[in-house]
Amino acid sequence: MSNFFINILLLISAIFIGGHLFKDAPFECNSKICTNILLGLGGGILAIGMMIYSINIDSTKTLVDLRVIALMLIYYIGGILPSLITGIIVVIFRTLYFGINQSSIVAVFQILIIILSYPIISKLKLNMVKKWLAIYLVNTFFIIGTYYYLLFNEDNVFKILLEYFIISTIAAILSYYLLKYVRSSNELYKRYKNEATKDFLTGLNNTRQFDLIFNKSVANAKEKDEKLSCLMVDIDHFKRVNDTYGHAVGDIILRELAVILKNTCRVFDAVSRVGGEEFCVLLIDCSKDRAIDIGKRICDEVKNHEFEIVAGRIIRITVSVGVSAYPESTDNIEMLLKQADDSLYKAKQTGRDRVCSADNK
Ligand code: GH3
Ligand code: MG
Ligand code: MG
Repeated sequence: MSNFFINILLLISAIFIGGHLFKDAPFECNSKICTNILLGLGGGILAIGMMIYSINIDSTKTLVDLRVIALMLIYYIGGILPSLITGIIVVIFRTLYFGINQSSIVAVFQILIIILSYPIISKLKLNMVKKWLAIYLVNTFFIIGTYYYLLFNEDNVFKILLEYFIISTIAAILSYYLLKYVRSSNELYKRYKNEATKDFLTGLNNTRQFDLIFNKSVANAKEKDEKLSCLMVDIDHFKRVNDTYGHAVGDIILRELAVILKNTCRVFDAVSRVGGEEFCVLLIDCSKDRAIDIGKRICDEVKNHEFEIVAGRIIRITVSVGVSAYPESTDNIEMLLKQADDSLYKAKQTGRDRVCSADNK
């Protein structure tokens, strides 16, 4: 009985720890493959814990474990690849820990069939709870079948199977509810985080996030003695666009412009919407000349872009760009934004659709 509680505690801990670790990109690793491998390893560790604390049924020598619940969890969260990794870990550990015998060979086939059944069940158009139930029933069917095959000459085989069924059902129901809880709180976390940091219209960093990124970039540039450049980008005569075509069209243009800015800058540059039709690009470790080049590229890309406001109806816009650069244009890195703003003002005053930069100090 105590091992049953240990198994339940292992499950609860794994779901909460896993939910926390995989809440964002796990361990700074953004690739899907890497996430899946980590998930598979996590499932393997959980399953090993469950096998070490196998549950003694009916005071007989019969040991059962809930590793199949670990497999279900991993499949449910990450799909076939991580569950295969968990399965392989289970098989290797089982062989090393319990040795090779009839039941270990049966266990290999059992796990293989169970994992292969998952994608088939997933193809059924079922909601979350029904899918979990279907996976659970298929698992239990195989497990009980194999236990029966291994134990059919025991007197109390049906009692053992019934106890196993009760234990695994409790674990499956508990896992489902915890998983659902962790998932929904992670989704809320992601949504609130996104709403707090991203501009709702363009998906770029919002002003609050921009402030954080700016302070971080400034601290980083000072610490590493790196360059930092800033582009302030403002749409020319945007009020006219709104007045002529309407606010909704203005919004389409803002969204498309955000994509152009993202695509024109380097992946590690921070693009933010810092005003209605004003954007700021922080160019990390970038010289003034290079910043001016990027500014010009932005001007050209925008000028040449056809903004399709309704099917077949195209308009064009231009932007003005102000550039400042640390340390070329100022020794005081805190002045970067002010200088970029002043340069933007100069670009507007001198005819728009151009890049102006702060003078070298
Ligand atoms: P300039 O070339 O001097 O920058 O002229 P401008 O018309 O672009 O500048 P102004 O500051 O006079 O007008 C900015 C316009 O941007 C006014 C406002 O309606 C529009 N705007 C601000 N935020 C949004 C928005 O979220 N959506 C839309 N569609 N328009 C916006
Ligand atoms: Mg403007
Ligand atoms: Mg403006």
